[in-house]
Amino acid sequence: MRDDFSQVTKDLLANRVGWKCSNPNCRKATRGAGTEKTDVINIGVASHITAASKGGPRYDEDMTAQERKSSENGIWLCQSCSKLIDSDVKRYPVDKLKKWKEISEQMAVLDLEEVVVDKTDEDKELIKFFIQCFDRPAFQDRICQEGRMEDFDKAIEDTIIALNTGVLRTRDGSILKKSEGKSAIVNAEWREKLDTICDMLVALRKRLRIAKAAGAYSAYGEGEVMYCFYDRELEMWFDSTREEILKILSAICEEIGVHGLHFHRRQYRW
Ligand SMILES: [Zn+2]
Repeated sequence: MRDDFSQVTKDLLANRVGWKCSNPNCRKATRGAGTEKTDVINIGVASHITAASKGGPRYDEDMTAQERKSSENGIWLCQSCSKLIDSDVKRYPVDKLKKWKEISEQMAVLDLEEVVVDKTDEDKELIKFFIQCFDRPAFQDRICQEGRMEDFDKAIEDTIIALNTGVLRTRDGSILKKSEGKSAIVNAEWREKLDTICDMLVALRKRLRIAKAAGAYSAYGEGEVMYCFYDRELEMWFDSTREEILKILSAICEEIGVHGLHFHRRQYRW
C-alpha cells in the first residue's frame, strides 16, 4: 500500500518552488516547451520525504497515511535529484530535504520579486543619456543652414550608433560617454519610441544620400555655408522629420519627468 500524492498536492509542491528542482545545488527547470506548440514537458517529480510505503527510503512508521501523502511530506525535484535522494538516505536525511524545501520556497518568492522589480529608474537614466545625444546642431539648425552636409550626416550617424550601443562618438572620434543601447530599455513603449526615432534617423541619412546623388541642393556663401534646395518639399521633409523626432523625444521626456529638451530652436517659417 503506497501513500501517493494526489495531483493537487503534486501541483502545489511544484508551484511553491516555481517548477524548479528543490535541490539548491541543482535548481533545474522541470517544465518547458515540448515539440508540439501546445505540449508542455514535465521532468519534475513530487518525491516523498519519508517513503510512501514500508521499506522505502526514510520510511517513518509513526506517521499516518494522511500525513505521508500530505504536501508536508513532499518535495519537488528533477528526475535525477529524486533518484539521488533515494539512493543514499544517509546523505539525504529528512532534515536535509526539509531544509532544501524551505530554501527553494524562499528562492521562488525571490524569483517573483525579481520579475516585478522596478527598472524604471534605470530606463530613465539611459533615456537621459540618449537625450544628450540629440543636443547638437544637427537637430536644431534648419537643413539649409547646416554648415557641411558631411558633418550633418556624420552627426546623424553618431546619434544612431549612440542609440544602438550607448556609445557617443564626438566629432574627433573620441568616445564621449559609455552606456547601453536602447534595447536595454525595459519599458516597451519607450523602447518602441526610440526604435521609431532610430528608423527616422536612418531614413534621413538615406534620403540625404539620394538627394546628394541627384544634385537636389547646392551650397552657397562664403565662410558660413548655406544650402539651396531645388525641391522645397524635400527641404521641408528634412526639417519636419527632425521636428518629428524631437517631438517623440519630448513626449518621452515628459513621461519620465525630465525636462531635457531645452535645445535652442530657431523659428521655422515656411
Ligand atoms: Zn535536480
